[in-house]
Amino acid sequence: MRKEDLLAEIREEVKRCFRCPLAEQRTQTVFGEGNPDALLMFIGEAPGEEEDRTGRPFVGKAGQLLTRIIQSVNLTREEVYIANMVKCRPPGNRNPTLQEIEACFPFLEAQIAIINPSIIVALGSVAASYLLDTKLPISKLRGQWYDWRGGKKVFPMFHPSFLLRYNSRAPGSPRYLTWLDIKEVKKMYDLLRQAS
Ligand code: SF4
Repeated sequence: MRKEDLLAEIREEVKRCFRCPLAEQRTQTVFGEGNPDALLMFIGEAPGEEEDRTGRPFVGKAGQLLTRIIQSVNLTREEVYIANMVKCRPPGNRNPTLQEIEACFPFLEAQIAIINPSIIVALGSVAASYLLDTKLPISKLRGQWYDWRGGKKVFPMFHPSFLLRYNSRAPGSPRYLTWLDIKEVKKMYDLLRQAS
């Protein structure tokens, strides 16, 4: 079966999902989008208002910033894959609970298994701490490579919505560090692409 068809099957399953309370207030599920053969996958936290309205991940203000971050290293959204830890919007944009993340994780695991990216960028503390099973804050986790299941590499970065709160690009600022981080991701991306 083609990857597109496998992903479409899970997308349909997600649409019908009522495994956790987030189903009750969603407008629609937000499955994820991008290249089914992506070498690089971005995983955020949860859909926000705009994502819930459109059914697409990272399309609000934070999403537009993520798009610019991706484009800053000459990549496009179409080359990578973008998803979230949970597929339904938490009310009031609160963080998803551990129970909600655990209920939804099998869908994300299935997406990762099908797409089989070599690099997973965990955006923000919710994604990073769950994937890496740690309570360390994102400020301590970001900017480093972690080996993850079956030879994949996880690289935590600040969530774009966190960056929206800080305009400074001065050395050491969250935006400055993110600029360093995405360049590091691109370096690994190029290396792995050459090797494949
Ligand atoms: Fe199902 Fe995930 Fe939505 Fe919860 S967040 S209802 S587990 S699709």
